[in-house]
Amino acid sequence: MDDKMMKENILVAGGAGFLGSNLCRRLVDEGHSVLCVDNFQTGRRVNIEPLLGNPLFSLLRHDVINPLHYDLRPTQIYNLACAASPRLYQADPVHTLRTCVYGAFNLLELARRSGARVLQASTSEVYGDPHMHPQSESYRGNVNMVGLRSCYDEGKRCAETLFSDYGRRKRAVVKIARIFNTYGPGMAQDDGRVVSNFVTQALKGLDLTIYGDGSQTRSLCYVDDMIDGLISLMNSAESFQGPVNLGNPVEATVLDIASEVRRLAGAEVDFVFEPRPADDPEQRCPDILLAQRHLGWAPSTRMETGLSKTVDYFSGVLASASDRAMS
Ligand code: NAD
Ligand code: UDP
Repeated sequence: MDDKMMKENILVAGGAGFLGSNLCRRLVDEGHSVLCVDNFQTGRRVNIEPLLGNPLFSLLRHDVINPLHYDLRPTQIYNLACAASPRLYQADPVHTLRTCVYGAFNLLELARRSGARVLQASTSEVYGDPHMHPQSESYRGNVNMVGLRSCYDEGKRCAETLFSDYGRRKRAVVKIARIFNTYGPGMAQDDGRVVSNFVTQALKGLDLTIYGDGSQTRSLCYVDDMIDGLISLMNSAESFQGPVNLGNPVEATVLDIASEVRRLAGAEVDFVFEPRPADDPEQRCPDILLAQRHLGWAPSTRMETGLSKTVDYFSGVLASASDRAMS
C-alpha cells in the first residue's frame, strides 16, 4: 500500500459472502484493518479462510438484525449483509426483510455513533421489472410489493430510504450503490444464480437450464470491477451519496450467456427450457453515466474474460470436491 494512504478500520457486514469476501481481501491487501461481520446464512468460511491468520483481519459472527452493542470504532462500514440469490433470499423472506431494514438501521446507528462513512449495497432490483431502459437512477421502478421477490426488493428500497434520511439529517456520511448482476470467483456453486448454475452444469456435463425462452436480458459485471466501484464510491466526495448504478452496461440475453459458458467450458451439452420464475425481470441494463462522472468508474472486464476466469475457478472447486470424495 502507498504509505501516504490513510489506513482505515473497516467493517464489512456480509464479508463472508461472494462480494464481501472479495472486498475484504482487497481491503486487507491495501493495508486496512478489516472486521468481517457475518451470520453465515449464505456466507462461507472457505471464502475468508485465507484471511483468517492475517493480523489485519478479524471475524465477528453476528446477525445484523440485532444491534451491534460491541465497542466497535470503524471509520468505514460496508453493508453487504443480505442473501443475493433469489432462491436463497426467498427461503426465509421475513428474515430477508428484517436483514434489509433492521440491518441497515443497526449499521447506520453504528456509523452515527462512531462517525464512520457507511455504504449500502443496494440493487438493480429496486427498479423491479423496469419500464425504462436502460435504467438510470432517476427511474423509480416497477416493483410488485406483494410478490415473491418483494422481501428483497422492498427491503432494499426501504434501506435506501433509511440511508437517505440519515444522510439528509447529517447523522452519517452515507453512500448508496445500486449493484447490477455481478459474478466471478467466490460465488457458491449451489446458489442458483445464472452464472453459477450454467458454469457448474457445463463442467459437470449437465444440460443448461434456461428459464423461459432465454430472451430476457441481464448485464453481467465481473467482480473485480465491482469491487473497484464500491471502493471508489466509499472514498468519493462527502457530498456525493448516490444512489449510483454500478454495473456493466453491456447487455446479454440469458441464451447468449448460456452459449458463451458452454463454449468456454468446452462442454457438449444441450439447453433445457424450464418455466420462468414469477416476477423475473425481462430486461436489465444500467445507465452508468453518474458513476462515470462522479467516480471515473466503468467496468473494464469483457464477458469472455470474466466468464473464462469463473470457469477456471469452478473447475478448481469441483476438482477439490472430487478429490475429497475419493480420499
Ligand atoms: P452473498 O449471499 O454471497 O453474501 C451475503 C452475505 O451476507 C453472506 O455472507 C451472508 O451470510 C451474509 N448475511 C445475510 N444475512 C445476514 C444477516 N442478517 N446478518 C449478517 N450477515 C448476513 O451475496 P453477494 O452476491 O455477495 O451480495 C452481497 C450484497 O450485494 C448483498 O447485499 C446483495 O443484496 C448485494 N447485491 C449483489 C448483487 C450480485 O449480483 N452479487 C447484485 C445486487 C446487489
Ligand atoms: N436463469 C436461468 N437459468 C438458471 C438460473 C437463472 O435461465 O439456471 C435466469 C433467471 O430466470 C433470470 C436470469 O437468469 O432471468 C438471472 O437470474 P439470477 O437468479 O442470476 O439473478 P436475478 O437477476 O434474476 O436476480
